[in-house]
Amino acid sequence: MSQIVEVKVPDIGDFSDVPVIELFVKPGDAIKVDESICTLESDKATMDVPSSAEGVIREVLVKVGDRVGEGAVLLKVEAEGAGAAPAGAGEAKAAPVSSSAAATPTAPAAPAAPPAPAPTAAKHAGGADLECDMLVLGAGPGGYSAAFRAADLGLKTVIVERYATLGGVCLNVGCIPSKALLHVAQVIDEAGHMAAAGITFAKPAVDLDALRAHKDKVVGKLTAGLAGMAKGRKVEVVRGLGTFLDANHVEVELTSGSGQDKTGEKKVVRFGQCIIAAGSAAVHLPFIPKDPRVVDSTGALELRTSGGKAPAKMLVIGGGIIGLEMATVYSTLGTRVDVVEMLDALMQGPDRDAVKVWEKQNAQRFDNIMLKTKTVAVEAKDDGLWVTFEGAEGSKSAPQGPQRYDMILQAAGRSPNGGKIGAENAGVVVTDRGFIPVDAQMRTNVPHIFAIGDVNGNPMLAHKAVHEGHVAAEVAAGETQGKSELARSAFDATVIPSVAYTHPEVAWVGFTEEQAKREGRKIETAKFPWAASGRAIANGADYGFTKLIFDAETHRVIGGAIVGPSAGDMIGEVCLAIEMGADAVDIGKTIHPHPTLGETIGLAAEVAHGSCTDIPSMRKK
Ligand code: FAD
Repeated sequence: MSQIVEVKVPDIGDFSDVPVIELFVKPGDAIKVDESICTLESDKATMDVPSSAEGVIREVLVKVGDRVGEGAVLLKVEAEGAGAAPAGAGEAKAAPVSSSAAATPTAPAAPAAPPAPAPTAAKHAGGADLECDMLVLGAGPGGYSAAFRAADLGLKTVIVERYATLGGVCLNVGCIPSKALLHVAQVIDEAGHMAAAGITFAKPAVDLDALRAHKDKVVGKLTAGLAGMAKGRKVEVVRGLGTFLDANHVEVELTSGSGQDKTGEKKVVRFGQCIIAAGSAAVHLPFIPKDPRVVDSTGALELRTSGGKAPAKMLVIGGGIIGLEMATVYSTLGTRVDVVEMLDALMQGPDRDAVKVWEKQNAQRFDNIMLKTKTVAVEAKDDGLWVTFEGAEGSKSAPQGPQRYDMILQAAGRSPNGGKIGAENAGVVVTDRGFIPVDAQMRTNVPHIFAIGDVNGNPMLAHKAVHEGHVAAEVAAGETQGKSELARSAFDATVIPSVAYTHPEVAWVGFTEEQAKREGRKIETAKFPWAASGRAIANGADYGFTKLIFDAETHRVIGGAIVGPSAGDMIGEVCLAIEMGADAVDIGKTIHPHPTLGETIGLAAEVAHGSCTDIPSMRKK
């Protein structure tokens, strides 16, 4: 007997009212339990919603662009009695799928149990060239941190990494090179602003080859440091592409050169435990042709030139943090930049008041910001890349007819590498989008195999990867050595901060006002305008602000946002206050140095408390 079953949005952590950005099903489709229905996106945190029922889809109740929260009905499925998921299956967790390098506002709750049945592990019949207690697959910030921690805790550790240098995306083609370029851009921007103080500089002459060399030097310094630290800890690095043979063996196809050229040689490593830290890769939109003028963030960081110059006109697809950071760099180097974003706003994570400040400060930077607009076609011609856009209903920003660009940056998210490492041979569950689900101790469904960083879910951020790497290594070492205090190590951070290192920077952590409102949580908000900060005025940054968000009942700080120069350096204090359960008095009565921008955090707490004397008189609460 068949019955109609409603499939609802499950618990998606701290999100509510998030847009549907992709829909994978239509009426009439057959669907199985755990098959993806749609993708939801909040800021750069993107998650897949799995089906909790098996059967034939009779009705799809959402469309791309709709905003949904926990409990919203997505589908009506005609399920055969036996095939229907049990009651409560709708509580399956949404699987995170991608991120463009920012964060969920709060740290995820303990991750869900693996959503799919575990594959049957293979059995490797041969021997091994190398044995270790701990094999770490991937040497990004998660992987090298995990490996070094494991080695420090006494485990014989091997890292398998396909590229020549350690450090993964973050050090080689992510956080660090982008910040090296953003710093240069900031100096150029600041120099321009000095005219208001009576100092004018000549227009900067940009030598892109020298700038690239500077960026490479910054990266080289850090990656060389990591190689030295691995050596010092006796962590063996095997250079090559690793694939699981079974739950205790990885085969490494050795690589050489600056890329992933295979030498033809192989090595098998036998491990006691393993940490998968294989990271993520940029999403490439299928309809965009392969052309050297179309780049992802890695290509953009290469600063390719045409006639020694930056491209004249560039399109950035994706208004998330990676796209906006690269747009900041290129626009400062002289490129005219358009940004196209499918959603109704740039930078989805923080409150709109912070984004508004950013938008005002960046109004001159962009020729055209196209919101609620899709890129539907790209044609590579000799004279440029011709792009056709389609505006959503009600959107006026999509230009009519194809537009010409010299370069396109695809910054439409990142997808995890979980499906590319033969995890099934080890019996490890991988979601259909390539994530490897873990528990709070970072264990996969195979208890001696852990997964950390971008490959296990959002937010895809280096500081999350490092934190998780330490947890996994400590849990692993505790087990093998019986150190119970380490075996208790688990991911229990309350918040993970996010920062857009644009000009100005936007940093936020924990609850936003919008999120609190959506969730019906009673809050008190206190904002300190930088127009009242002596240091901000002196620095020409009086447009910024610092905002703290408190729980109205406990009075503890549960969120914060800062917009202005060095916001990213300052948000750590708000993270600490949240983790320590501080209230406005704790923060406001902490003496901050004067005159600093950091002082505005104490002053925002004083605003909450009613004791701030740097703004017009306040009634004491
Ligand atoms: P990765 O850094 O992706 O490392 C994975 C490693 O595994 C890679 O070295 C890869 O070669 C290796 N690997 C994968 N598969 C195999 C295999 N089969 N065999 C051998 N080796 C393998 N985050 C921030 O927190 N702050 C920022 O400012 C920031 N800026 C960014 C800017 C850009 C342009 C980009 C692209 C990302 C940025 N990020 C930022 C995100 C950050 O880089 C990632 O979250 C972080 O690198 C994830 O670390 P990870 O260890 O999980 O994986």
